[in-house]
Amino acid sequence: MTLPRPKTEDFGARLSFDRGSPGRRAVDVPAWAGDERPLPDTHLLRDSLRLPELSQGELVRYYTALSARNFGIDSGTYPLGSCTMKYNPKVDDLVASSAGFATAHPQSPAEEAQGTLRTLLELRRGLGEATGLPAVSLAPAAGAQGELAGVLMITRALEDRGELETRRRILVPDSAHGTNPATAAMAGFAVTQIPTAADGSLDRATIEQELDESVAAVMVTAPNTLGLWEQGIEDVADLIHGAGAYLYGDGANFNAIMGRVRYGDLGFDVVHLNLHKSFSTPHGGGGPGAGPVCCSEELAPYLPTPVVEECEDGLVRLTAPERSIGQLQQFHGNVGVLIRAYAYMRALGLKGLRAVSGQAVLNANYLRVLLHGHYDLPYDRPVLHEVVFSGSRQRREHGVRTYDIAKRLIDHGFHPPTVYFPLIVEEALMMEPTETEPPEAIEAFAAAMIAIAEEAEEDPEELHGAPWTAPIGRLDEATAARRPVLRWQEEGADSPA
Ligand SMILES: *Cc1c(COP(=O)(O)O)cnc(C)c1O
Repeated sequence: MTLPRPKTEDFGARLSFDRGSPGRRAVDVPAWAGDERPLPDTHLLRDSLRLPELSQGELVRYYTALSARNFGIDSGTYPLGSCTMKYNPKVDDLVASSAGFATAHPQSPAEEAQGTLRTLLELRRGLGEATGLPAVSLAPAAGAQGELAGVLMITRALEDRGELETRRRILVPDSAHGTNPATAAMAGFAVTQIPTAADGSLDRATIEQELDESVAAVMVTAPNTLGLWEQGIEDVADLIHGAGAYLYGDGANFNAIMGRVRYGDLGFDVVHLNLHKSFSTPHGGGGPGAGPVCCSEELAPYLPTPVVEECEDGLVRLTAPERSIGQLQQFHGNVGVLIRAYAYMRALGLKGLRAVSGQAVLNANYLRVLLHGHYDLPYDRPVLHEVVFSGSRQRREHGVRTYDIAKRLIDHGFHPPTVYFPLIVEEALMMEPTETEPPEAIEAFAAAMIAIAEEAEEDPEELHGAPWTAPIGRLDEATAARRPVLRWQEEGADSPA
C-alpha cells in the first residue's frame, strides 16, 4: 500500500503582506551611532507605511517559492509554435555580459569602441552570408520593426523610381503572422489577402492574377506559419520581379533552414530575421529583441540608420546610408542581443547552424508522427520547424476545445503550444519543439497530448475546468488586459481606477 503524499506548504500561496506577525523582522538594523540629522518637512513624509513583517528565513522561502512559479525553457518543454522557445547556451550570456561589451557607452567615440563595433561588423557580415543578402542593418529591435524597416525601404525605392503613387498594394498570404498585414497597413499600403492552396502553400494562380502595376510588394513568410516550405518560391520571385514589385521575406522562422537555404539565392529582395528566436536570446516575455534587416545591393541605400561599416582608415564606424529611411530608435538596437547572436554564430559555425536546422526539422517531424491519428492534421505532409494540428475532432465529438487542451497541458507539466494561430486552421494547436529538446522530452510531451485526447473522450467535463494544479486556473482575460490590478491592496480597500 502506498501512503498518501502529505501536502507540503506552499510558501508562495499568500503575499508577504498577508503573512508574518507584527514585530517580526528579517534584519536587525543596529542603532545609529552617528550625528542626528533633522527629517525633511513633515508634509514630505508618509504617515503610514505597511511593510510585511517576516523573518529572513520566511522571506527566502517566499521568494524561492515565487521564483519556481515561473515557467521557462530552463524548467521544461516549451513548444510554443512560431516562437522558437529553444534552450540558449549560457555561455552566450556570459560573453554579452563581459565588461568590455556591457559597459560600452552608446555615445563613445568610434575610436574607443572598436571592439564592440568590430564584433557588430562581423555579425553583420555573418548574417549577410547566411541569408545571401549582403547589406544588413542590425538596428531593428524586434521582428515587427524589421518588417516595418523593410517595407519603408521598398517605399523609398518606389519613390526613387517614380512609382510610389501607382504601386499602392501589398499582397499578403492569409497564413501570415499578424505583423505582416499590420506592417503593410502602417506603411500606408492596402493589403490584398492571398489564399492558401489545399497543400498549405501560396495559391500561385491568385498571385499571378493579382500582380499588376498597382502592387508594391508581396510579403512571404518562409518557411510559412504552417511549418511548410513554399515550393517553387524562386519562380514566384521571378513573376513578382517581372511585374516590377519586390519580394519581402519574413525570416522569423529561419531556425528551420539556416545553413542550408539562403533567401538571396531564392530571389528575396529584403528579409528580417528574429535573433531572439534563432540566435540565442530567449523570445517572449516582452524582453529585448533584435530583428536585423538584410537586403540586396539595390535596396542597400535605404537601410535604417545606423549601419556598421569598415571605413577606409581601417576604423569601424556607425554610418547613415545615403537614402536611409532614418533611425528607428535610439543608438544601435539591442547590442546585448546582437553580441549573444555573434557568440552563438561563432561557436556553431556554418556546420553547426546546419546541424541546428536539421535537428529542429527532425524534432518537429518526430512530434508530427507521434501525434498522427490522435489529433486532426489539416495539412498532412512533412513539415519544417513546426507542426500545426487541430483540436476540431475533440471539439466536434466531445465538446472539448483547443483552449481546454492547452490549459490541461499545464497540469501535465508542459507549457501549452500556440493556439488559434494560424487563423486558417480551425482550433489550431501549433507546436514547435525546436532542436534543443531531446527525443525523451518530445515523447513525454506527445504522451501528455495523447493522454489529454483520451481524457477528452472519457471525461470531457474535467477538461473544461483545467488547469487544476495552477494557483489561478482561468483568468477573465479581457478584464485582466483592460483593468489589470498590479499593486497589492489592503483587504477591503477600493480597487484603483
Ligand atoms: C515572431 C514572428 C514575428 C514578429 O516578431 P517580433 O519580434 O515578435 O516582433 C513575425 N513573423 C513571424 C513569422 C514570427 O514568427
